[in-house]
Amino acid sequence: MTYIPSEKLAEDAKKVLEEVNAKTEPLGPRDRMAIPAQEMPSQDPAVRRSNMEEVALGYTPEQAKLEAERCLQCKTAPCIAGCPVGIDIPGFIQAIADGDNKKAVDILKQDSLLPAVCGRVCPQETQCQAPCTVGKVLKSVDKAVSIGRLERYVADWERENDLVEIPAVKPETGKKVGIIGTGPAGLTVAADIRREGHSVVLFEAFHKPGGVMVYGIPEFRLPKAIVQKEIDALTAMGCELKPNFVIGRTRKVADLLKEDSFDALFIGTGAGLPRFMNIEGENLVGVYSANEYLTRSNLMRAYDKARADTPIFASEKVAVFGGGNVAMDAARTAVRLGAKEVHLIYRRTEVEMPARVEEVGHAKEEGVIFHLLENPKRILSDERGWVRGIECLRYELGEPDDSGRRRPVAIEGSEFEIDLDTVIVAIGNDSNPLIRQTTPGLETNKWGNIVADENGKSSLDRIYAGGDIVLGAATVILAMGEGRKAAAAMNRMLSEI
Ligand code: FAD
Ligand code: SF4
Ligand code: SF4
Repeated sequence: MTYIPSEKLAEDAKKVLEEVNAKTEPLGPRDRMAIPAQEMPSQDPAVRRSNMEEVALGYTPEQAKLEAERCLQCKTAPCIAGCPVGIDIPGFIQAIADGDNKKAVDILKQDSLLPAVCGRVCPQETQCQAPCTVGKVLKSVDKAVSIGRLERYVADWERENDLVEIPAVKPETGKKVGIIGTGPAGLTVAADIRREGHSVVLFEAFHKPGGVMVYGIPEFRLPKAIVQKEIDALTAMGCELKPNFVIGRTRKVADLLKEDSFDALFIGTGAGLPRFMNIEGENLVGVYSANEYLTRSNLMRAYDKARADTPIFASEKVAVFGGGNVAMDAARTAVRLGAKEVHLIYRRTEVEMPARVEEVGHAKEEGVIFHLLENPKRILSDERGWVRGIECLRYELGEPDDSGRRRPVAIEGSEFEIDLDTVIVAIGNDSNPLIRQTTPGLETNKWGNIVADENGKSSLDRIYAGGDIVLGAATVILAMGEGRKAAAAMNRMLSEI
């Protein structure tokens, strides 16, 4: 990826748009596909390495119009099938092309509570943009219509122009719903249930709501103010928020139903329990789970040394284990916290990396050193019990495993060492066992995830669940989609009792 300054992207777009506007005939498919795919303007990598501000800056109006004009308005709209919540993609894009941003937002909000979030963090290249006809014809998913960037553009337009409307709430029904966890699943359920006039109380273990969108995904990818705006809308609708409230400790699920007179509950507690590699040295000082590292930096604002007292080690040389979005976020956070060297260690190749291509590109631009086909064997200690390095093994790819990806096979005798002072383990998360352990009769599967039916209903009466606690670590849009489904079923159930 070569960095193109935002000013150049904006100037180029203006020129191309003038040419497009000068055409006297309506645009045909060939004209549309000849319009260059619009790159996302972003902060210069040399500058953004030392700040937490958002990397992607958003399309200019000219870029948005051009990108919208690239859409062929396919009758079959294969893009819609790629979106987990089935957004009317050609509809909202046509509205942008027509200059009607308000209509575009209204179409998006029919299916998505959080378009400004999803436009930023959805893995579009494997979802809505993967089947896009333009990308198929031009033989590259990078050339597909940038649906997510357009989604972000109109959602930002609405917020920045103070046009966000608080959804109408029906007359009070006297029914009360408790929502456990305030990630995208819980927030979606809260909005959909409150709209029907039921009272809603959101319980959150942390001092701030938002789930991974606030404690995990860093500010430079998803500004916290955007999530806060959604939460403000919920409180304006009359939802009550109870932070620092751990269900399973402060109150148990059964207490909420039997003693606190909740009519129904939704469990959206996510997958916040970090996995470790179980290798020698993982309990040394200087080893973090990515969750802890990111929570300290994001939620507890350790990066903002002037205003926060949260301690975080001033690392010089960091290794991050893993190849997903969480690993990229941890590595890029370490860069911004001042580490001189950040090594990302992944046992397969870049092709198998689960992280979004854009995030991998950004990490490279910011100087993260990629070690592919390598994996740590043990973490090395100094005489005080602090991390002093890691011993790694080199790998090669063998036959495909159950996931369909080629299995990494260690090369015997290939050990080598890297000097480090910090290790961040980012190899995945499981669900937190607290609610499972304190709620008798709640069925869970072998991974500890809550078992829910197609309506999000759990094995217990009046208790629903959705998001990562059901799916295992997944995505924001899937959590939102699950929330929407469960809320519809809960509203039906509440109307019958
Ligand atoms: P969460 O967002 O996990 O929220 C659960 C909430 O429940 C938390 O606030 C937690 O504190 C609270 N909670 C837990 N237990 C209790 C309890 N007992 N009582 C009260 N509250 C409780 N997805 C994407 O689509 N794109 C990305 O780029 C992306 N990047 C990611 C980066 C990181 C670092 C991480 C960790 C995840 C990322 N994901 C990404 C995944 C995505 O964030 C999750 O799939 C999504 O947030 C799940 O939503 P959820 O509502 O199920 O749970
Ligand atoms: Fe694409 Fe996500 Fe928007 Fe759906 S919500 S259209 S998958 S960016
Ligand atoms: Fe537009 Fe692509 Fe969807 Fe066709 S598949 S309607 S070109 S976004």
